[in-house]
Amino acid sequence: MKTKKRILAIALIGLMGISTGCSQADSGQSANLSVGSTTTLPVDQYPAADIYFAADIDPMTRDRVRITVATAEEMWGPVPNLEIWVTGLDTATALTLRDEFCAIRVETKTESSDCEFKADKNVYEFSKFALESQKAAKSTEEFGPIAYFRRFSTSGGYIVLPYPNGLATQWPVPAELDQITIFHEYLHAVQGRVRNIAKPKLTKEDVSMTGWMLEAYAMLLKSEQDEPRWLSEGLAVFLSEYYVPRLRLEGKLDRASDRGKVDPKEVPLLWDFMMDKWHEIQDFKKEDPTLTLENSVDSTFARAPYIFGAWAIQYLKQEKGMDVFLNEFYPSIRELGWEEAFRKTFGRSVEQFYREFNIFLDRSHDEIINFLVAEGLKELAK
Ligand SMILES: [Zn+2]
Repeated sequence: MKTKKRILAIALIGLMGISTGCSQADSGQSANLSVGSTTTLPVDQYPAADIYFAADIDPMTRDRVRITVATAEEMWGPVPNLEIWVTGLDTATALTLRDEFCAIRVETKTESSDCEFKADKNVYEFSKFALESQKAAKSTEEFGPIAYFRRFSTSGGYIVLPYPNGLATQWPVPAELDQITIFHEYLHAVQGRVRNIAKPKLTKEDVSMTGWMLEAYAMLLKSEQDEPRWLSEGLAVFLSEYYVPRLRLEGKLDRASDRGKVDPKEVPLLWDFMMDKWHEIQDFKKEDPTLTLENSVDSTFARAPYIFGAWAIQYLKQEKGMDVFLNEFYPSIRELGWEEAFRKTFGRSVEQFYREFNIFLDRSHDEIINFLVAEGLKELAK
């Protein structure tokens, strides 16, 4: 309990505006190693997902990715038919990885536009990832490519991860960012599993399409039943920001790969993170006063649905906790559609919730701090 109080004290200090963010250490050197697929992990610590690494990723980094994925699986359960593709820094190995990826796509009838040459950018997706990761390895100004999850029209799907500069100890920013990215994308795969939307029935006309076009079309049909992006992204943001710092504290996620001066050991980053996002929402609203949770998905601010969504989750979780999303809400979508599933889970219509949430977001800075503190105290009392 003592430590918990201390954590709360540090969190409160953080909320009052004393920065606890990461410091910028010197830029890491990137080395292009070519290594075999060795590992030091015992087989029973391997995740269930199939992870494919580019040949230039060293065994230590691979193991840190595997541990992160295995921890996410422990948290939310495995996802059948999930593949994870991790590109490196070298474009030649990225292309070899792409060949392997595309062979599996043909074999399993889950073709993907990621196999196509992107004529507009004169590159393949995987080699683009390697090129952008090279830049991120050299500068704190470059964030590198953005990881993503694509589902299959049947079940499962694949995640493409850029070179994990943090976990490879090659980036001045802590490995935590890579761990949060992996948790975030993994959560999207979990959403797909619990939503459990059936493979769409295609008409004769639809089937005249072939290859990745047909697969993309089937996925598009499937996505018509999805909840809005503020909800799917908000939940992925919130849960990864919530769990990763805690799992690091518990020693379940690696901290040895961290660089820089800040030891995030006792700082619950979620508090800072949510306050930071609240400020970002205020900035967005200054530029566009009509911006709301509901229309954030169409906003010109690409980050709006993520940030509004994370706050919507923070707000909704106060009544039934955060397990309710994956345990009750998502499993009801297939049968009820997302809006009815929302009503059944949260006891009001989506429209009612939008109105209520708009009023909540108009609260003052101090009221928001008090809200977060009250929510934090509830967590500690558990
Ligand atoms: Zn996402």
